[in-house]
Amino acid sequence: MRLKPLFSSNLTLWAGPRLGGNTLLVLLFLCVCAFAKAKDDDTNAQTPRKFKVVLDAGHGGSDPGKPSKFGYRESDIALKIALALGKELEKDPSMEVTYTRKTDVFIPLKKRGAIANAAKADLFISIHCNAHHTQAYGTETYVLGLHANEENLRVAKAENAVIFLEEDYETTYADYNINSPESIIAFDVMQEEYLEQSILMASLIQDNFRKKLKRKDRSVKQAGFVVLHQTVMPSILVETGFITNVKEGKYLASKKGQQAIAKTIADAVVTYKSKVFIPEAETQLIPKANTTDKIVAGVTFKVQLAASSRKLDPKPYNFKKLPEISRSREGGLYKYYSGNTSNYTAIKRRLSEAKAKGYTTAYIVSFDKNDIKVPLAKVLN
Ligand SMILES: [Zn+2]
Repeated sequence: MRLKPLFSSNLTLWAGPRLGGNTLLVLLFLCVCAFAKAKDDDTNAQTPRKFKVVLDAGHGGSDPGKPSKFGYRESDIALKIALALGKELEKDPSMEVTYTRKTDVFIPLKKRGAIANAAKADLFISIHCNAHHTQAYGTETYVLGLHANEENLRVAKAENAVIFLEEDYETTYADYNINSPESIIAFDVMQEEYLEQSILMASLIQDNFRKKLKRKDRSVKQAGFVVLHQTVMPSILVETGFITNVKEGKYLASKKGQQAIAKTIADAVVTYKSKVFIPEAETQLIPKANTTDKIVAGVTFKVQLAASSRKLDPKPYNFKKLPEISRSREGGLYKYYSGNTSNYTAIKRRLSEAKAKGYTTAYIVSFDKNDIKVPLAKVLN
């Protein structure tokens, strides 16, 4: 069949033979099929979960934060750094950023935590500026805990004081005596699970401040911050510098300073993510059983990695990135497992993997249909 040249004198755009009605129908049908196929592929594709960061610019609205005789507002500086940090993180498509505030508004401390918890965030970062009656300077990053000294308590008290601006604070925070961080954390140790990750994140930020920006490193500290207490994820609070220091205050209020601080924290988030995060889509991939695999119906095998009095977040980042981590409580101890399968061959592979990663005393345990532990030897016979 001879094809008409494209763009011939009669401006026919179709290069092929003229189409009859049936040909059109067939083409249309093929198109629909191709579309359906593409859609199908889309839904089957494993889209990796994003790493979710909640950025909390301290203070705002009727709460300007700490005073500075130079006229700087902590709430403004914190917001600008938080927005710049978010912009930096959002360049990475594997990150998802949520803000507790993007404008100059008042947000109660409890609401900030609620926003982070609703977002099911992987990390919570609260941004603040410090103040002191001396010319103190430098950066410090806090994780929730008992204040080690009076100075940490002073910082926590100042950040917690915003509670008194909230309506009904006496009922909302009835369980807190904010002048005593012990009372804040004594009745609930939720954050304990996330302490290790929080300290890791805090250290990465402080290291970056010191190495990349030559800032004075006032170290990672612990104190009873109400805002950190509200979240159920690794959470930190960064005091980015002193607005009461002549030089540092100027730096914090400058666009250049804010951008540099934001970039430095963003770099720390990227490092943290690379150390702790495995997209769930990856961890839930269960290799297909080979025909030669030994499957024991009605039994669940797990590899017991550790037993400890410490309550850890049952996530791969706490267990050298081993997947499918679960936790149970038995006789006052927390037991940590990797794997959840009735495939005995597969669990043996997981055991070798765990041993190779340093869990040299790991072993296989088996559970019956009612989740009751049964001796392995009995199950295998
Ligand atoms: Zn503050």
